[in-house]
Amino acid sequence: MQPPVINCDQPQSKLLSITQAQQKIIDLVSPVTDTEMVPLKSALSRVLADPISSSLDIPGFDNSAMDGYAISSQCLNSENKNEKITLTLIGQSFAGAPYQGAEIEPSQCIRIMTGAMMPKGCDAVVMQEQVKRGGDKIVFDNCHCAGENVRYRGEDLKTGDSVLAAGKLLKPADLGLLAAVGQSEISVYRKVKIGFFSTGDELKSISETLEPGQIYDSNRYLLDGMLSRLQVKILDLGVIPDDKDIIKSTLNNAAESCDVIITSGGVSVGDADFVKQVLDEIGEIHFWRVAMKPGKPLAIGTIKQCTFFGLPGNPVSVFATFYQFALAALYRIMGADSFHPVQFKAKCLCDLKKAPGRAEFQRGKLRRNDLGELEVDSTGGQGSHLMTTLSQADCFIMLNVENAGVKAGEMVDVQPFYGLI
Ligand code: AMP
Ligand code: MG
Repeated sequence: MQPPVINCDQPQSKLLSITQAQQKIIDLVSPVTDTEMVPLKSALSRVLADPISSSLDIPGFDNSAMDGYAISSQCLNSENKNEKITLTLIGQSFAGAPYQGAEIEPSQCIRIMTGAMMPKGCDAVVMQEQVKRGGDKIVFDNCHCAGENVRYRGEDLKTGDSVLAAGKLLKPADLGLLAAVGQSEISVYRKVKIGFFSTGDELKSISETLEPGQIYDSNRYLLDGMLSRLQVKILDLGVIPDDKDIIKSTLNNAAESCDVIITSGGVSVGDADFVKQVLDEIGEIHFWRVAMKPGKPLAIGTIKQCTFFGLPGNPVSVFATFYQFALAALYRIMGADSFHPVQFKAKCLCDLKKAPGRAEFQRGKLRRNDLGELEVDSTGGQGSHLMTTLSQADCFIMLNVENAGVKAGEMVDVQPFYGLI
């Protein structure tokens, strides 16, 4: 059964619900169209641009699923199940070195290994553990049947079958599958280029000395980490002060070469919130208030052909808004067909404070109890500036708009971080 999807759809007035915001973003962006051929080994996490159909049957021939003895099921006696069967060994079939002789008689058998081609006349394999061997004779119980331990030609794919559809984000298993059908090169969408910078007069890079009132820029490292999990080109544009002209020229320059620009900070209604003002001048801003905590102020827009995400300044808000909004859009721009992060229920081990009005993404840690049930605990303080509790977390605890707090023992929706990328 599918886990119920969290309902974040009744926000405070004038705020967009999370699902509304997610849909608007997806509608706003479109996939890149240019493609390139890449060797299969370079295709991990790229998006397939052309569908692939099989030019082979997979498996390509009937073969053995076990090490043992290939037999003809005609040797089996359906009348007397207690009878022992004795056969004469006349050859061997190894993986890559098939038996070359003529069709075998029912009184004969062939030594066979896993993956080796079934010899002519054979339609079953008796596992070696079920056989007693003496010289060229083997003896086994009469309890086997036709088809036993045989893997059939075309069982996985037949020639002409669809292997993978365009839009597939390629995982290690897909690379294995494509290798099985002999694809040495594949057509993928070109890499999306993503530029990002942090805004704030208080921010210093980690190699610099802090003056009173200054802090190190965390967000660029956080963003770099999240983006590095994707097969995209990353352009780190550094820290930009709260200066309208510098923000404007940085955005204009980045928009020349990037498909996406992500900024953090400067999108709330504070005095220094230039990003929104600049976007109003040089591009188009679409919305920026979502009924969500952390991460209510959020700017989404376009500058020329470039998609712009103005994420909030607090690092936990950057993390939450990246995963709840930017990631699905990035997958779509990369050409991927869909993105459905996993979500399931777990028993909450502690009380959680929450006021109705906005959906919340709290930081939790999952574990299995002695009965094998999933439990989740809060990692502690939920302020959007608290990075320790983010670092300790491995999932979002998702609380919907109306939720007015959770009592220990209640079931809650959780979204594991490892399901996100
Ligand atoms: P803002 O959205 O610019 O008003 O920033 C909100 C809060 O996030 C402020 O406390 C900022 O100092 C903090 N902040 C903004 N950008 C960063 C950053 N890159 N790294 C760490 N904290 C930041
Ligand atoms: Mg700021």
